[in-house]
Order: sequence, then C-alpha cells, then structure tokens
Amino acid sequence: MAGKCWTKGELEYVEGHWPDEGSSEVARALSRTMISVQSKAKKLNLHRNYFGDKNHPYSANLRRRYNMTIEDYDRLLEEQNYVCAICGQEETSTNQYGIKRLCVDYDHRTGAIRGLLCMQCNMMIGSAKDNYVVLTNAVYYLARQKPNDAFGALIGSREAQSSRKQGKEDSKVGV
Ligand SMILES: [Zn+2]
Repeated sequence: MAGKCWTKGELEYVEGHWPDEGSSEVARALSRTMISVQSKAKKLNLHRNYFGDKNHPYSANLRRRYNMTIEDYDRLLEEQNYVCAICGQEETSTNQYGIKRLCVDYDHRTGAIRGLLCMQCNMMIGSAKDNYVVLTNAVYYLARQKPNDAFGALIGSREAQSSRKQGKEDSKVGV
C-alpha cells in the first residue's frame, strides 16, 4: 500500500474526517496504513489545525506540565526532523487520536526541556534513571559482545588504548 498515489477523493476524505475520526478509522475506510494517514495529515497541515487549537487538551497539557506552547513544541519537533532525538525514528505507539506525539523529555531536577523522545526511548532513559554512566555501560556491554561489528571494534580499540595508557601510568608510579 505504501507509495500508492492518493486520489483527490481520498485526500478530501482525510481532510473531512481526520482527526474527528481517529487515524485507524480513516485508514480502515481508505484501506491504507495508519502511518500513511498520519503522514498525509501532517503534509496537509491538519495537525496544526488540530493541536494548534488553544482549547485542545494537548495544548493545555503542554502549558501546564512544561510551560510550553504548541509553537514551542512544533519548533522543537522541526529541529529534530520530526523524529525521536535518540533513536531517530517516528513514534509508533498510539492513543485514541492515532499515533502519539513524541513525548516531551525534561530534566526532573531542573525542569529544563531536553528534547522530544519516542515512548520507547523515554522509557529507556527513565529505566536508567537518567544516569548516563549506566547508559554508557549498556553501550559498552552491548558492543563487547560484537567485536567484529564496526562500533564494537571502535569501543574495543578505545578500551585497549586506555588500558595501555593506564599500564604506562602504573609503571611510572612504580618507578
Ligand atoms: Zn526513540
């Protein structure tokens, strides 16, 4: 279905039915995927009409929780090329409106907004309690299992370098 040209009738259907009807209903009616309906709605700028509504709960939620306007959110989203700041993918989890927006990630101590993340990545850094030592250790842990992988090799050579350096320093101390 991906790549199939949209007929004028289909475009009018999306404009007339989205988002009052969820992406899944519109997708079903047109025999298209939810993602294609979502991206078409984005291209038709229907998101702005929908979420730009100051009375929409999403706008109120942004203001209340993050002191952020929908324009701030959209600016950040554009800066991130409409994808998660960690995995570089679009959100795939859904709610009653269709595919969710990327979550606003913020520093829980200072309240500063760090970026927009997909649900999975938000959960990942939440599980690590934002501790970058834990997250870095996870990278090393995974890379060590794949010494032939380009990244694994890079990590491996860095580790070897630092242990050589460490060895030199140890011998200096010994002298
Ligand atoms: Zn992500």
